Amino acid sequence: MACDALANEFGTPLYVYSATEMRARLALFQKAFSFCPSTVCYAVKANSSLAVLRLLGKAGAGFDIVSGGELERVRRAHLPALRRIVFSGVGKQVWEIDAALDANILLFNVESEAEIDLLASRAKHLAVQARFALRVNPDVFAETHPYISTGLRQHKFGVEIGRARELYRRAARHTHLRAAGVSVHIGSQIQSVAPFAAALERVVDLARDLRADGHDIRYLDAGGGLGINYTATLEIGKASNAQQPSPAQQVTEYAAALAPALEQIDIHLLLEPGRFLVAQAGALLTRILNVKQNGGKTFVVTDAGMNDLIRPALYKAHHEVVPVQRSRKSQALVADVVGPVCESGDFFAQDRMLPELSSGDLIAVLDAGAYGMSQASNYNSRPRPAEVLVEAAESHLIRRRETMRDLLATERLP
Ligand SMILES: *Cc1c(COP(=O)(O)O)cnc(C)c1O
Repeated sequence: MACDALANEFGTPLYVYSATEMRARLALFQKAFSFCPSTVCYAVKANSSLAVLRLLGKAGAGFDIVSGGELERVRRAHLPALRRIVFSGVGKQVWEIDAALDANILLFNVESEAEIDLLASRAKHLAVQARFALRVNPDVFAETHPYISTGLRQHKFGVEIGRARELYRRAARHTHLRAAGVSVHIGSQIQSVAPFAAALERVVDLARDLRADGHDIRYLDAGGGLGINYTATLEIGKASNAQQPSPAQQVTEYAAALAPALEQIDIHLLLEPGRFLVAQAGALLTRILNVKQNGGKTFVVTDAGMNDLIRPALYKAHHEVVPVQRSRKSQALVADVVGPVCESGDFFAQDRMLPELSSGDLIAVLDAGAYGMSQASNYNSRPRPAEVLVEAAESHLIRRRETMRDLLATERLP
């Protein structure tokens, strides 16, 4: 179904996803890493809608979760995938650890000394064995937005790689813990593969040392973070697009960068891509409420706001904005595309060349499949958008639009 028909049927703002594209992206990873035993554990936080999880789970994905809520989502979406879960995060609570132990997940990515002890005590309490990997911080700099860079010594994530052997040694004293892997994740939206290779090299060295120390290390978790190109427009022949590698080339290059380190060791590789699998499979459809002039500037005001898609406000992220119905040939105005939320940070594009647009027109904010709906909020008491999953000629409403009743459901007047 065409986007305008979807917007008419389900209303706006509306997230629209392509099932085919998500499956194809997962397959790119599965194929590129077929040279070693590997499992792609999709990072749930990128887009945690049940239908997305089910589609990826059925296609063989495992999952990287960061909360008990995400665990519950995987349980509801695709039960067999519970055994392919890795649980990351710097602040796991007791109930979350217990739920994950009860689900017999594949691996806990432990991020501190204190968490080792907590995991050990919960595993003992439940009389089970907990498989864990220490998330190490390789002190590798990856060029990306500071909010999503995670692999430097001064970041809150993981433990310094130099302390890892000592921590594994300490953990070995706990009879309910099994050191099963080593894990790393250096950040998100990383464009160059060099930092991934550098980080993995350090982690492979550590894994070999740990094996020499007597630990049964079977898994190496290389994390996620492969970036996408948010400036690729649909226009052919733009100079800036000529050098852009295709997604398939990007994954091939990524695998080639990790291969030399992996050839040094016989191990099961875990990968945690989030954004790369879903971002470019989704768009946010929004209708123009009005076009206004202020201080010599033109503002295109849409019915979607920063509560629906916060990436531009939070990370100064770039998203292409295109009209749905009209030809994109006539670049008629330079405008800011803004939402109705009471914040000057509520924009999707600034000083952008756009075709003539008027109230009632439908536009699409592209590459919004990752960190879009999963970061949506009710700020300004706005109901969150609906989501549609398109599969060939069929479209399925996978989340209905929130109602006023949903908005007020948890509140009580004293
Ligand atoms: C966020 C996150 C990911 C996914 O990152 P992307 O940039 O979406 O690929 C993977 N692993 C961990 C531990 C994360 O926190």
